[in-house]
Amino acid sequence: KASVMGGENIDNEEATELLEKSMAKSALEKLQEDRKSLPIYPYRDQLLQAIEDHQILVIVGETGSGKTTQIPQYLHEVGYTKRGKIGCTQPRRVAAMSVAARVSQEMGVKLGHEVGYSIRFEDCTSEKTVLKYMTDGMLLREFLGEPDLESYSVVMVDEAHERTLSTDILFGLVKDIARFRPDLKLLISSATLDAEKFSDYFDSAPIFKFPGRRYPVEIHYTKAPEADYLDAAIVTVLQIHVTQELGDILVFFTGQEEIETAEEIIKHRIRGLGTKIAELIICPIYANLPTELQAKIFEATPEGARKVVLATNIAETSLTIDGIKYVIDPGFCKMKSYNPRTGMESLLIAPVSKASANQRAGRAGRTGPGKCFRLYTAYNYYNDMEDNTIPEIQRTNLANVVLSLKSLGIHDLINFDFMDPPPSEALLKALELLFALSALNKLGELTKVGRRMAEFPLDPMLSKAIVASDNYKCSDEMISIAAMLSIGNSIFYRPKDKQVHADNARMNFHTGNVGDHIALLKVYDSWKETNYSTQWCYENYIQVRSMKRARDIRDQLEGLLERVEIELTSNASDLEPIKKAITSGFFPNSARLQKNGSYRTVKHPQTVHIHPSSGLAQILPRWVIYHELVLTTKEYMRQVTELKPEWLVEIAPHYYQLKDVEDSGMKKKPRAEEGQGL
Ligand code: ADP
Ligand code: MG
Repeated sequence: KASVMGGENIDNEEATELLEKSMAKSALEKLQEDRKSLPIYPYRDQLLQAIEDHQILVIVGETGSGKTTQIPQYLHEVGYTKRGKIGCTQPRRVAAMSVAARVSQEMGVKLGHEVGYSIRFEDCTSEKTVLKYMTDGMLLREFLGEPDLESYSVVMVDEAHERTLSTDILFGLVKDIARFRPDLKLLISSATLDAEKFSDYFDSAPIFKFPGRRYPVEIHYTKAPEADYLDAAIVTVLQIHVTQELGDILVFFTGQEEIETAEEIIKHRIRGLGTKIAELIICPIYANLPTELQAKIFEATPEGARKVVLATNIAETSLTIDGIKYVIDPGFCKMKSYNPRTGMESLLIAPVSKASANQRAGRAGRTGPGKCFRLYTAYNYYNDMEDNTIPEIQRTNLANVVLSLKSLGIHDLINFDFMDPPPSEALLKALELLFALSALNKLGELTKVGRRMAEFPLDPMLSKAIVASDNYKCSDEMISIAAMLSIGNSIFYRPKDKQVHADNARMNFHTGNVGDHIALLKVYDSWKETNYSTQWCYENYIQVRSMKRARDIRDQLEGLLERVEIELTSNASDLEPIKKAITSGFFPNSARLQKNGSYRTVKHPQTVHIHPSSGLAQILPRWVIYHELVLTTKEYMRQVTELKPEWLVEIAPHYYQLKDVEDSGMKKKPRAEEGQGL
């Protein structure tokens, strides 16, 4: 099997056990009652009949009506699991985990036994698992080990309207296997009403639509555009809390950082409001939120109090929170954008589509009439916002997907059955990049390097850095760096009242201006030296939880090294080989310093800057290589390491010529020379 298998998730097991003990039988009965009150319940038999009668069925029902939690259970109840597992895909990890937890409660079983979930780097399933919730990306990886999904009797591609890259690719793959596996049932479920498109794509599959329960939602717009939507959102929360009748609030933010900032400010301002105000319970929810805190958003709000849920897009359709009466929609989300001409991808904060805005508003009307406060003008809504979000496949780097498809033996990508084809330049760019990384040969066939890379559930550039670390005898260090990079930017924390201490602690790892990648390695190694001490993390303003996750990911990457027969080798005393290994994967991301302190990317010249959180932000080395670009106020490079320009020509002679790195490379600025550890 190609998927990354870990052990059972202990935290969740313990949590379930505790829950079981504390849950009297009557609670289970209550859950069964709840199930019967869901909008989908009256359609149970009709739905099962339709599934029996048709191999492929498109299912449409309002968010919160019970599609995700109920349909797999119904199928289990009538015996589908005797023939194989039921797999249900979700675009988001948090949704997969949370829904699996809920279903295991409803069935009165331990999470990870009959009901489990599988997300990247975390497998909470066992031999017993028959209902498997997973990210769409994980099912995609399962194809690598089980091309006909033999162990499944039903595959439900849920949240199809989200049109994530993995979901779109899954469409093509499941449509194909359905032809030669007549026993496989395929369900495509969506919360939006434009199901015809899905039906058309799946050879006119019938559509099963059932009505949801929806109460009216009053929409309010701002009179003038808001200059600062974060502040406007916070002010609106407090205004609702002070002036509007009780009922929970849901606010949509773009990411963890915004949510944390908002949480702090709200807490602070609430204190200023005195004691006469009702209690306000703040519940954040985003992808990296620790599991046990995720459950908090579903807890009933105590009598007389109000809950405010600060959420990312996850609460738009993936998770239903009961009792929301007020929605605040600033109108933005984090979005990947990709320039197929330059091959550059970056994350940016972009306006949502009308479809998204309407879903968001709908969250206020699930259990009673509600209100939605849009922090943009009506003019904005009607004239500026797109009708629908552009499918991810049309605005992303496709290298990862192309590598996966190639390893599935699908060579003719131009004629792959895409629901909406990606721009052909994007496909070409992906092929070019994979060729540059030596994952494909000139004929577009997978090479040995490519086959090894495909085993890693990572972006091709990072996989390549790992595969290349074999040559530089530093695979041990490289997988630590890869694991740390996979955690994202939640390793360091910076409490408002101790920012200076936190920054000093962080800069300790940057001694010698080693660059961000090596600093991450130092963090990991230092933690390991203390025998994974929690105390050490506290002292260094490092998130223990993130570190544990990094350790877990690292263990899995170590297992994968063995699979692809790369020896674990270490070369800690010399940083150059490590930097060269990184360069072997990330050479397309090179940039050169300009006179004004900004950088210019080498291959497709574009102005970029070192992110202020980088250890090199004040150093400004002449040449750097970066992990990713993030667009906020400027185009920032995040995770940056200094580079010697001649490495580019040495490592990627097919990509860089001497002229690309001439003129400046050899006459280094004096200050870039001191203590660079190069
Ligand atoms: P749909 O998939 O149609 O949007 P779901 O099956 O996710 O609907 O949700 C059905 C019901 O289950 C909702 O009322 C929701 O509040 C509840 N629910 C779902 N997940 C959880 C959870 N983790 N904890 C508590 N309730 C949940
Ligand atoms: Mg759902």
